[in-house]
Formats: sequence, C-alpha cells, structure tokens
Amino acid sequence: MTGKETIVELISAEKIQQRVRELGTLITSDFAKTNKMIVICVLKGAFMFTADLVRSIEVPCHIEFIRASSYGSSIQSSGKVCITGTIDIEGYDILVVEDIIDTGLTISRINEEFRKCNPASLKICSLLEKPAVRKHPVTIDYLGFSVPNRFVVGYGIDYAGKYRQLPFLGTLK
Ligand code: 5GP
Ligand code: MG
Ligand code: MG
Repeated sequence: MTGKETIVELISAEKIQQRVRELGTLITSDFAKTNKMIVICVLKGAFMFTADLVRSIEVPCHIEFIRASSYGSSIQSSGKVCITGTIDIEGYDILVVEDIIDTGLTISRINEEFRKCNPASLKICSLLEKPAVRKHPVTIDYLGFSVPNRFVVGYGIDYAGKYRQLPFLGTLK
C-alpha cells in the first residue's frame, strides 16, 4: 500500500457525533459527584474523539495527554507498547480515552501503569473495539462502536500518518 488506498466508509460522521453525545451524557451522570476528574487522551489516535467527547461532558475536568505506541507505520502490532507522558493522578477520578481496543495489550499496559499511581477511580472509554481478537481481557466502561476485524482509519485514526483528518470512520481497501 503506497498512498493509493481506497477508503470505504464504515461509520458516518453523523453516527459518530450522535454516539459521542450519548457517551457524554452517560459519563456526565457517572462523574456528576466528583470535582476531581481528569480526562486522559491517549495520543495520537484519540485526539479527535477526545476533543468532541469533552464538549459533551458537563462535569468540570482537567484534560491531559499521554502517548502510547505499538504500531509504528505498519498494520501489524509490534507486541510492545511504549507509554510516554507523566500526570499526577493520585486521588483523581480518571477517564482514559482510547481510539481502538484490539488485542487489549495497549489499554492493559496503561491500566497497569495508572493503577500503581492510586487514582480514586479509573474508567476506560474507547471509540472502537474489535471483539474478535482480544488477548488481554479489559473492561471497557464506555464504548462507541464494535467493529469487525478490519484495518480502520479516520476520525483521528491513521494509516502511516494519513487519514486522521477524516470526519468519518472507514476501512482501507
Ligand atoms: P491493541 O494494543 O489493543 O492490540 O491495539 C490498540 C492500538 O492499536 C490502537 O490504539 C491503535 O493505535 C492500533 N490499532 C488497532 N487496530 C487498528 C486499526 O484498525 N487501525 C489503526 N489505524 N490502528 C489500529
Ligand atoms: Mg490507541
Ligand atoms: Mg497508529
């Protein structure tokens, strides 16, 4: 694949926006009683989802960023996860926002690292999950959509750095 990929729409921009509002409403009611909320965006893939989601969350919160990478520019997982970024989360109610949970390796590693830092609570929100290939079991507290085991791009999610700007989700053909 060398820059001539065709993108087939999987989930429209309208459907994404509607689901984001629903998730925002759920999260708002679950976090209503805290004044120590931190939303942590897992870069780079979750940047667009996080930006839309926080506008639907009606609870005061801090917004922070970490970087997790396992894919490089290939479409195969390297099996290793590199996490960068430091945030003091002790005593805070944490919402981690991810783009895709595939094998579950990345989010399990993030979960492990964060739990060592004694947050008051820790919940996970993912735009997408691929249920067919979970190797590391994780509880996804808030899920946008389940998708088939295909390579997905758009709405923040890339292939070799491309297609992040698309307002919809698609698969590569
Ligand atoms: P996991 O560690 O759960 O196997 O993989 C999670 C990460 O792999 C995601 O956060 C994402 O960065 C990447 N990934 C998994 N599936 C896809 C996909 O279909 N498209 C893209 N662009 N990245 C994916
Ligand atoms: Mg990710
Ligand atoms: Mg990527």
